[in-house]
Amino acid sequence: MTTAEQSDRDDSIIFAGLLADIDADGPAAAVLAEVLRGLDPATAPPDELLIDAAMRYSRLAEPTPGLVPDDVAWASYAHRAARARYGPDHVTTLMAMDNLAAVLYVRGRFDDANRVRRDLIQVHLDHGNIDAHLTQRIELAYQLHAAGRCDDAIRQARGAWQAWISRHDPASLDTLWIMLQFVTMLIACHRFDEAVAVRSAAQFTPPSDADPTKAGYNAFAVTIPVTIIQHRPVCTRQNSTATATTGQDGVR
Ligand SMILES: [Zn+2]
Repeated sequence: MTTAEQSDRDDSIIFAGLLADIDADGPAAAVLAEVLRGLDPATAPPDELLIDAAMRYSRLAEPTPGLVPDDVAWASYAHRAARARYGPDHVTTLMAMDNLAAVLYVRGRFDDANRVRRDLIQVHLDHGNIDAHLTQRIELAYQLHAAGRCDDAIRQARGAWQAWISRHDPASLDTLWIMLQFVTMLIACHRFDEAVAVRSAAQFTPPSDADPTKAGYNAFAVTIPVTIIQHRPVCTRQNSTATATTGQDGVR
């Protein structure tokens, strides 16, 4: 690659970053796809801007079958390249691990996503970063839950939740997000009494219109019904209840 070609490529990556910053996700993904199309994620060098481009592209690209450039391959590249360039414990490497787990999860590759997420949890634990460790355990619980491993998910989330509130004010803002994720899983599994108990422990009331967290809360709140609906066909708790009350086929 000539110096001029590299300069053009770097300009495109910076341009895509600016597009993403103003929420123009589709155009940003298109620009990044052009950059990555001519490269092989298996042999691309661990270049700082390229790592950024690969992570951003894999996060923004719509996960369609046969997607070119391949979002999982580029998310894997970003992790591998960040590790080679910065080392295994660098913040960029940890971000790349988080990104890879999220991309695998969106693609429905739950076992692979769980493996990466567990590795990330261990890295945080090894470094004594307990809050990040607990936050990632909630993320793992969400992944397990989406895969229909309801008991494992709730056990994981409850452990993280109890450890979290032993270290933080149950009514604090940081606690709010963890509580909402845990409660969403409980509701989706029809464990309503437990959901109410967790909300009560956090003294939860929705933020007012004047509250600066309102927008973030609303953004999360709209995902809750989707999570609940998507969980229904895979929920082992609901489906075992249905089988027990209606027979093997679960038809009412
Ligand atoms: Zn469930």
